[in-house]
Amino acid sequence: MNRRRKVYEGKAKILYEGTEPGTLIQHFKDDATAFNAKKKDVIEGKGVLNNRISEHIFTNLNAIGVPTHFIRRINMREQLIREVEIIPLEVVVRNVAAGSLSQRLGLDEGTQLPRSIIEFYYKNDELNDPMVSEEHITAFGWAAPPEIDDIMSLAIRINDFMTGLFLGVGIRLVDFKIEFGRLYENDMVRIVLADEISPDSCRLWDIGSDEKLDKDRFRRDMGGLVEAYTEVARRLGIMSENEPIATRGPVLVK
Ligand code: UDP
Repeated sequence: MNRRRKVYEGKAKILYEGTEPGTLIQHFKDDATAFNAKKKDVIEGKGVLNNRISEHIFTNLNAIGVPTHFIRRINMREQLIREVEIIPLEVVVRNVAAGSLSQRLGLDEGTQLPRSIIEFYYKNDELNDPMVSEEHITAFGWAAPPEIDDIMSLAIRINDFMTGLFLGVGIRLVDFKIEFGRLYENDMVRIVLADEISPDSCRLWDIGSDEKLDKDRFRRDMGGLVEAYTEVARRLGIMSENEPIATRGPVLVK
């Protein structure tokens, strides 16, 4: 019974037309995918948790002056965001070796990197999101050199903020993926953080036990994903211990 116009549907989110011009509603689904959607499942409660965790991080980033598309959370699964032109890059920031970096360079997962590393991947499912360099990005016009500069300095600020945020609650921020967009305001264009930041797009390890509190639980068939995301939310002080994760709206009685 959704009368709003759907603008876009991705693997884990839907975008609807917003309430005012220049806005959109970002809806978090329970769908989980990995390996370019070759592995799929529905994990009840995931969307609610990601909406809340992403809201928390984006609100704090806005508060420290990192521009983002986030306006406000509307309900359990949705947030109002500014409409931006998405730059077709996945920007990955890494602090500790894991995942594809470990495989590519033969590094043991968990190896601290000499410094934080930023990587770019071209967002293209048909090509499996290939890694690209700044040369490719500028040559093919996906982003201009000053935009790459903005993206890199924002990525470093976001990493510094998030590393501290998670360290404070006993979590190691191993790596994460972010996306940026162009926000058109009057005659100005600026780069802002878009999409989401949640345990779907970060690697988060408990400092004491190295327990994974992120989507690797799904990728690696470990189970306990909702419990892990709930633990992240609880530690960040987002959900009170007793707050139920209401996963379904009211049921229409016909
Ligand atoms: N990531 C993501 N979406 C992607 C690919 C990666 O959110 O399409 C995140 C992933 O959760 C991890 C980081 O980016 O936090 C680095 O992922 P990696 O390159 O190691 O790839 P993966 O091992 O996830 O295939």
